[in-house]
Amino acid sequence: MAGPERRGVALAGRLVVAEDERVAVSGGAADVPRSGRDRAIRERRYLDAALAEPERARLLFAEKARAGFDRIGRATIAIRSMRPILDARLVNDAFGDPGVYVDFRFEKRALAFDLGDNAALAPRHLLRLSHVFVSHTHMDHFIGFDRLVRICVGRHAGMRLFGPPGFVDQVERRLASYTWDRVDRYDVELVLTATEIDERGATRSARFRTRSGFAREPLPEGIAPGGLLTDEETFRVRCALLDHRTPCLGFALEEKTHVNVWKNRLEEMGLRVGPWVAELKRAALAGAAKDTPIEARWQDADGARSRTCPLGDLESALEFVPGQKIAYVTDVVFHDANVARIVDLARDADMLFIESVFLAADGAHASQKQHLTARQAGTIARLAGARGVTPFHFSPRYAERESALRVELDAAWRGNG
Ligand SMILES: [Zn+2]
Ligand SMILES: [Zn+2]
Repeated sequence: MAGPERRGVALAGRLVVAEDERVAVSGGAADVPRSGRDRAIRERRYLDAALAEPERARLLFAEKARAGFDRIGRATIAIRSMRPILDARLVNDAFGDPGVYVDFRFEKRALAFDLGDNAALAPRHLLRLSHVFVSHTHMDHFIGFDRLVRICVGRHAGMRLFGPPGFVDQVERRLASYTWDRVDRYDVELVLTATEIDERGATRSARFRTRSGFAREPLPEGIAPGGLLTDEETFRVRCALLDHRTPCLGFALEEKTHVNVWKNRLEEMGLRVGPWVAELKRAALAGAAKDTPIEARWQDADGARSRTCPLGDLESALEFVPGQKIAYVTDVVFHDANVARIVDLARDADMLFIESVFLAADGAHASQKQHLTARQAGTIARLAGARGVTPFHFSPRYAERESALRVELDAAWRGNG
């Protein structure tokens, strides 16, 4: 559970001084960790700096601070190059169909939670999707599947889709409701791989391809230990099977730790960046021994240059940045088993997207409809220790009282609800 102290640090993670500026940290250089790796102290310093200059601070989701030294030895917090890699946002406003789109800033890829009305997403956004996670197939969470397929046919090589029990049949039926007699001629073959997961973690999958008119091709059954749906080089996604009378999946996206390289520090060592930096990052992330030789190669006015250094000598130019965690929970009833599963799934999330459909005053109606109230959502966020929380799926009955939902959620999250 998040105590007040913990919340202070969480606040630091969301306060950012205007980009492209460097802010001197009060207190001098001596007690700032030179390695820049002590995350807690960095966050503290970051908070101090932001509070010292509140007029220049602005709210920005989950950006990480980076402490260091400038050329004359002053402690600094560099803002410029610390934009988060994951950019997660609601597809619609809080009254619109549920859905979160997550862009990977430095890769040409994105993933999505839920497929409600997605007209707000431009085709180029849909064409970046590599993974789509569907909580359940009530219409407001799945009607956007058609537009996704329409835009991707002939232009996108494929994506993986995940959903609750029965999902593969439903994907098959949606595809089968159209006539696909011409799609086999497209140069780009669209391959959709659909996977469903049951309460035991068993998975069933099938493939649907334009070349065969989206006829179902069964794939081997599998098992997803701990609800782990996908484990990529830079991120993983887990799910929990939740109760909405019908089974409904909640999801957690965890970005893996990555390494930033300080170009100026390499230059101080007489080195230049180049493709070799990728190997340096890989070795550092793999925890290779300090004497591991790293061959630096680059081009300058004198032509091709190269030098071999032990990994340990290069470490001062590296910064390990812990990944962000983003959780997505919607369409769930508030009972002990659901709450326990959600808290486990969303624990310590940098951002929890969670439905807040009704006000607590309408709590009986909420539980009858198998949805959360804003107070229940905030309580779950607090129990999970979420550092940020974004509510959505507001009932239209509160169209004139949107702020009441937000205030109620916020109070419960902070423990005043
Ligand atoms: Zn819904
Ligand atoms: Zn629903």
